[in-house]
Amino acid sequence: MNTTGHIERDNLVLFAMQLLSAEENAIAVAHIAGCPECRRELAEVQGDLAVYAHSVEMQAAPESARERLLKQVAHEKKVIPVETAAEPEPELPIRGFSGRGSLTEDDLPPRGFAGRVFPWLGWALAAGLAVTAGNFYMQRTALQGSIAEQKDQIAQLTTDAATAREVMETMTDRNALRVTLTKAQTAPVPQARATYIADKGLLIFQANNMEPLEPAKVYELWLIPANGSNPIPAGTFHPDEHGYASVMMPPLPKGVEAKAFGVTIENEGGSQTPTLPIIMVGA
Ligand SMILES: [Zn+2]
Repeated sequence: MNTTGHIERDNLVLFAMQLLSAEENAIAVAHIAGCPECRRELAEVQGDLAVYAHSVEMQAAPESARERLLKQVAHEKKVIPVETAAEPEPELPIRGFSGRGSLTEDDLPPRGFAGRVFPWLGWALAAGLAVTAGNFYMQRTALQGSIAEQKDQIAQLTTDAATAREVMETMTDRNALRVTLTKAQTAPVPQARATYIADKGLLIFQANNMEPLEPAKVYELWLIPANGSNPIPAGTFHPDEHGYASVMMPPLPKGVEAKAFGVTIENEGGSQTPTLPIIMVGA
């Protein structure tokens, strides 16, 4: 922790390389879990270290972190000094990591102490960075998944917006062809005309587009008197195959003012009172 309460950058570097003491590590984990600022800084450090892992350049690690690392190395007494220049260089597990083969002494700065501890240092860095690079890779994979998902959402929204714009443009285009469509082959509406002379009791009735009747049924015409008395039967009829029908001069009393004419469907032979519903009516 520094004076601002956050983890110092060199400690973050050591943390990233898994080189803090168990006690320090526990403190760091607890703090990082609750501190977005330090998490951001740690991500930066991890990024730096990942780059470093690929280039195997010492410059990427902060000076203070290196000092701390070397002190830690000395403290834990795991330093394996290089005996003599004649001795064969130990194989380092970093081979392939950088594409440059194993580390050589030239890869490290010519500092007395660092130079002497480099085989262990190389191993420690390689191990720490391998872990870090692994974490970094997983984070990047998760991030890529999340980015791909967001790209999908953006693509969907873009499509929706484009569709909405096209709808608006089509609806408001002056040159658009506009056609009204209705159900095809709608049956023609039945129509009829009654011509009536009340004082002579003369009636001519003509109907078009009448629907065919069920067997044993007949259409019946009714004169509905203006005085409110019962409807008077005015003849029965069957339409022909074209839906045409007529009633000519049915027997009617003279002098009955008509309020309306109506048509019902009755049993063959006709009825003396209309059976509802009245399927056609005209006043
Ligand atoms: Zn913090």
